[in-house]
This record gives sequence, structure tokens and C-alpha cells, in this order.
Amino acid sequence: MADPDLVARLSAALVASAGGYLRNPVRRELVTCAVCATPVAGFRLCYQCQRRRGRTGLADATGFLAYAVAGQQSGYVMQGYKARPPVPEHRAIVTLLVLLGLARHAPCVKNAGASGEAPVPVTHWATVPSLPAQPGEHPLHAIVSRLAPGCEVTLAAADEVDYPRDLDAGHFRAPPLPAGAHALLVDDTWARGGHAQSAVLALRAAGAARVSVLVAARWINADFGGNAAFIRGLADRDYDPAICPWTGAACPPRGPGAPS
Ligand SMILES: [Zn+2]
Ligand SMILES: [Zn+2]
Repeated sequence: MADPDLVARLSAALVASAGGYLRNPVRRELVTCAVCATPVAGFRLCYQCQRRRGRTGLADATGFLAYAVAGQQSGYVMQGYKARPPVPEHRAIVTLLVLLGLARHAPCVKNAGASGEAPVPVTHWATVPSLPAQPGEHPLHAIVSRLAPGCEVTLAAADEVDYPRDLDAGHFRAPPLPAGAHALLVDDTWARGGHAQSAVLALRAAGAARVSVLVAARWINADFGGNAAFIRGLADRDYDPAICPWTGAACPPRGPGAPS
């Protein structure tokens, strides 16, 4: 997968099949939330991320590969890929999206900390299990395990959870991690963020020094606030797998003066 020709061919395949309706997340201060890339009207953070601000142990970095809009093709794909039975076409698109995201941008996360911090390579990976626990392998796990960097740290979901969308470290368990571990946590959809951030807290409780979250799709409800206008404003930008999920910029950086 590190083969550049293969990455280029798979990128072209993703753009050909889904580039017309998938949209890269926008990372722009006061336009989208600094944590979760949802549209905001002149704020640094969205309501949910603002509410959790100051809580220690949340994700050090968050990256998003695409927006998924409820009731539109991008939303159907994120639901269909894990439907029982799955929609094969949707499974193929999410597989390409996630594998290309890992191949092209998992290495970038080592630089995604606060500016001035030393780069920290990923040592472990995990996917977020369903809540409550479901039998069988989660389709996201089957995709991510093919290409994720480092060793797997297996998260287990609690058997009984009253409010699965709430932020609660008790929703998941992880075996102990070695000192200095940097875990890359992969989730398929971020709606309010409680699901992924609870898994981050569980990894933190297991000893992770650093946790970065890579999400396939930031879920958007078009009937909320200015979301519909925001999504319409992206209509002329076909999906570009070169856009970095951590920064929203071209990756590797392009243009004069950009580091190679
Ligand atoms: Zn947010
Ligand atoms: Zn990147």
C-alpha cells in the first residue's frame, strides 16, 4: 500500500466513484470547529466541543476524512457500509476512503500536535467498538487492521451502557499500554463526539501518553443552523484524497517555500 503507484490508482478510483459527493473537511478558524470540523458561526469550537473543553484526557489531535450529510449520498454510504447485510458499493467506498486516509495521512499525525512540540510517531492503533457490544468483527476493524501503523490495542465495549453518546471512560476498556504510547484511534462517524472521546479516555486510563483520533466521516445534519448552506458551498469541490485530515491543507504541502 506504500507503493505510490497503487496509492495513486486507488485515489483515482475513489474520486471516480465517490468524488462527486464526498467532501473534504474544512479546517478554518471561526468557520469550522477547531476540534471536529463542523460548521460554526464565528466560534472557535462547536457547542459540544465547547462543553467538553477543559476536560483533561480528550484527544490530542482529531482528523476527519470526509463529511457525511444525513439524507444525502455521503450519509447513506456511511450507514450502508455497516448495514446487515452491507451495501457492497458502500463498503467498497468506505474501504478506499479509510485505507487511503491511513496510507496517505497516518504518518502526518506525528506532527499534528501543538506547534513547537516534538513529533511523536504512532505506536499503537485501535478502532472504536459499537456500543453496546455487538457480536462479530466490526466492519471498520476489518478495514483498519489491514494497514494501521503499530500494534493493536483492543478496546472492549461495556456490556451495558445507559447513554452511549455521553462522554464516559467506563464505556470502553483497554489493556495496559507501555509508557509513552501514542495511540491512533479510528472511528467511522463522529456525530457529537462522545463515542470517540470516551474511547480516548479509556486509552488514556490504560496509560496512553498521546491519543490521536482519525474519523472517516464528520456527520452533518443539513437542517441545523447554517449547515445546509455550508455544504452547498462545497458543491464545486470534488473529493481530493491529498487533503490532509489533520490540517485541511494539501499534503504534502504544495507551493513555493513549502517544506518538501
Ligand atoms: Zn466540535
Ligand atoms: Zn496528511
